[in-house]
Amino acid sequence: MAVTGLRIGVVGGSVAGCAMAIAGARAGAEVTVYERSDGALEDRGFGIVIPPPLHAELVAAGYLDSGMPTAPVPSRVWLAREPGGRSTRELARQESAVTPCHWGLLWRTLRANADGVTYHRGRPVTQVLRHPSGGAVIRTAGSEKRYDVVVGADGPRSVTRAAFAPGVRPVPAGYVVWRGTLPLDVLTGHPHQWELVRTAWITLGFRGGHGVFYLIPGAAEGPGLLAYAIYGPPPPPSWTAAREEYVRHVAEEHFPAGWAEIVARGAHTSLACHDVADFHVPRVAEPPFLLAGDAASITRPHTASGATKALQDALCLERVLQASPSAADALRRYADERSGEGARLVALGRRLGHAMVERTPDWAAMGPAEVADWSRATLDGAGSYLYGGVQRE
Ligand SMILES: Cc1cc2nc3c(=O)[nH]c(=O)nc-3n(C[C@H](O)[C@H](O)[C@H](O)COP(=O)(O)OP(=O)(O)OC[C@H]3O[C@@H](n4cnc5c(N)ncnc54)[C@H](O)[C@@H]3O)c2cc1C
Repeated sequence: MAVTGLRIGVVGGSVAGCAMAIAGARAGAEVTVYERSDGALEDRGFGIVIPPPLHAELVAAGYLDSGMPTAPVPSRVWLAREPGGRSTRELARQESAVTPCHWGLLWRTLRANADGVTYHRGRPVTQVLRHPSGGAVIRTAGSEKRYDVVVGADGPRSVTRAAFAPGVRPVPAGYVVWRGTLPLDVLTGHPHQWELVRTAWITLGFRGGHGVFYLIPGAAEGPGLLAYAIYGPPPPPSWTAAREEYVRHVAEEHFPAGWAEIVARGAHTSLACHDVADFHVPRVAEPPFLLAGDAASITRPHTASGATKALQDALCLERVLQASPSAADALRRYADERSGEGARLVALGRRLGHAMVERTPDWAAMGPAEVADWSRATLDGAGSYLYGGVQRE
């Protein structure tokens, strides 16, 4: 039996917020989204990968459009520098199917599919609190509105989380990730690298970190982009040059010559440096509150699972709303189903971070069998779509 006549307020209108809004609307609720930013979220030009079966499920369910461009690849290639030289050594090729997306296009598609949802831009929520007669209140600078359910999709510093799990704090990993995109013409004159990224996503190991590369569609029609994430220690306090220069410096220090040249070429079309950190809320819903996406948990990005989890959160919300006699019952079912995933991903992200940044192996000495053994030892039984092939062996 579905809950009917529900009013849902969603705090945050990014990937998790839009997906949760679609879920609520599809379950028949009246949904209002409050997004702090009045800028264009679609301009966030980063790459994001999701599992192909999830992509297919979201298209079939109407969250994503089949026409949204993606750049799926079936494999992962592991590279390192040749010992004592600067040429590239291919360590292994694993079956690892991923669907890379352009973050802005993903957001725009979710936003467009949030039919019938009221979406307020430039409306920061200042407080979320329980109403004494039931439900919850969302406060902004100019308004106060009551809802049956409030969804916190407001990211790592969630005000919604503060209403029912105030003690949860991110735990820093002690290293950073540089995330950006490069125009495709950086690959001109590098036919081998071009061929690799057309068919696979790349993990490039070095002592104390690694880089990840994959193609994504462009924001507008036209050529795609080369997305990257490079993990390693933070820049020294004495570093005063541009951030782009630091990324080039890391590549020059650690990458094979061809890949360092690619990173050195062309203006980075987007670039951000994130301190890597993680946390999870033990129970992700407590009626009338519910958390989704990064508001509920953050894993180290080696799992490529934050947006994935947010989208799965939404599919779960739609299902429990449609199967429950009351909002409180739906939220309890949501908490039962989704609370464990944050903890699981945090543990997996830590294991991957230890193995791929904090205690890196002698990458260049490894071949396909060693990479497969090392992958299995790192996963320690945990599932990850990024390691599909080695898990099935
Ligand atoms: C380097 C890196 C690589 C990654 N790669 C992947 C990947 O390949 N695959 C994957 O699945 N995930 C990946 N992730 C994780 C993914 O980017 C995030 O988990 C996801 O974008 C989180 O979405 P969200 O909507 O929960 O949070 P956010 O995108 O942070 O959105 C929160 C929104 O809430 C709004 N907001 C905040 N406070 C308020 C307020 N008080 N009032 C109103 N609005 C508010 C903000 O403006 C924002 O729009 C990666 C992360 C990093 C750092």
